[in-house]
Amino acid sequence: MNDEDFMQLALAQAELALTAGEVPVGAVLVRDGVLIAQAHNAPVGQHDPSAHAEILVMREAAAKLGNYRLDDCTLYVTLEPCTMCAGAILNARLAKVVWGAAEPKTGAGGSVIDVFAQAQLNHHTLSQGQVMAEQCALPLQTFFKQQRLAHKAQAAATRLRDDAVRTPDLAFNNLPGYPWQANYISDLPALNGLRMHYLDEGPADAQVTWLCLHGNPAWSYLYRHMIPVFLAAGHRVVAPDMPGFGKSDKPKKDSAHTFDWHRAVLLEFIEALDLRHIQLVVQDWGGILGLTLPMAQPWRYQSLLVMNTMLATGEQPLSEGFLGWRQMCADKPMFDVAKLFARGNPQMSADECAAYNAPFPDAGHRAALRAFPPMVPSGVESPGAAVSRQAADFWANHWQGRSLMFIGKQDPVLGEPVMRDLQQRIRACPEPVVLPQAGHFVQEHGHEIALQALQHFFHSGDQQ
Ligand SMILES: [Zn+2]
Repeated sequence: MNDEDFMQLALAQAELALTAGEVPVGAVLVRDGVLIAQAHNAPVGQHDPSAHAEILVMREAAAKLGNYRLDDCTLYVTLEPCTMCAGAILNARLAKVVWGAAEPKTGAGGSVIDVFAQAQLNHHTLSQGQVMAEQCALPLQTFFKQQRLAHKAQAAATRLRDDAVRTPDLAFNNLPGYPWQANYISDLPALNGLRMHYLDEGPADAQVTWLCLHGNPAWSYLYRHMIPVFLAAGHRVVAPDMPGFGKSDKPKKDSAHTFDWHRAVLLEFIEALDLRHIQLVVQDWGGILGLTLPMAQPWRYQSLLVMNTMLATGEQPLSEGFLGWRQMCADKPMFDVAKLFARGNPQMSADECAAYNAPFPDAGHRAALRAFPPMVPSGVESPGAAVSRQAADFWANHWQGRSLMFIGKQDPVLGEPVMRDLQQRIRACPEPVVLPQAGHFVQEHGHEIALQALQHFFHSGDQQ
């Protein structure tokens, strides 16, 4: 075997490093034409800044030969050695080092410094560089190109639009009952670079996916009592935070929020994740928007679990309770979200209530809270009213799935009268389950609701 053959073996080692996510450098050590050892760069995997291919291959060879001197050996390495490796090579008194690609930034074989040519160092090692240089450079070029692309993708995923704010991650630390990993998506056309957060728990290939949509001023935290029940059944749960809410980016301007935009985001989100076998779970705006989604792609949906919400077709006047809520939001734009939850939910801890304030550290983060109440379609011409009427027709005449309705009886905004009316509009929706203690945020009693939904849709969950 000649120099090229041994360099090919070193290149094969470099390819192994590339697969392992290391800077792809490979080395072999040869004595009398016989391969003694081979190794590749591994500082990342071994948590060792000295784990360069040359060091590892000399270490292995010295152990095999039972001698820390490698006087009569030749080392082949695909990249010009650094000063550390050049020093180690001299210490080992190698006869010769043959290296491939030059390393203009750190090369100690002549590119930056030539350690092997220092007369003051008592050296014995011949250095022969640029052997198969182009071939040896290829895996390095591949590696650094991959790295650049990965950095670019990451930068795109973390970039924040000038016209938006992002709640600091710190605000969401240690929230009670919310252990789930954050997922982000920003490449939906409707998002135009805004970063949207969502939970995606359970097996990606599960036969059942619960799509849980929150309303104003909540976020995916609202589903923390229901998610564990669905996961325990082996199902998948997907729960997005709408733009402007939760961990999602928040447009600065109130006017960024429109019915059609949020609906487009949700439709694109469902398509991007290619969600199927969907059990649609809606409440409040999660329903005002969410109930308009299935008609677009009915084949994705199996069931509807609906809690205090409405179809805002603009045909009937909005309820007194809703108008009161809208007025309150207008009068007190800085209302305390935690207190709102505390009022209807004496069972919640102070920390749980505070978790609903977490997304909104100041007025700059509250555009959605200001925009949503006036955005509920109130007349037949209001934005969103026409699509809501189409949805009403869909639910009344075309919905093929199963449905289940829960009503939080204490809700003054979208309570029993509104919900009884909605039940009549949903084909084959059975008698609702009325929860006497629950208020508007019905999901705060979600454990029991999730169990009943599992039982109703899948005749399972008895052991929960
Ligand atoms: Zn080195």
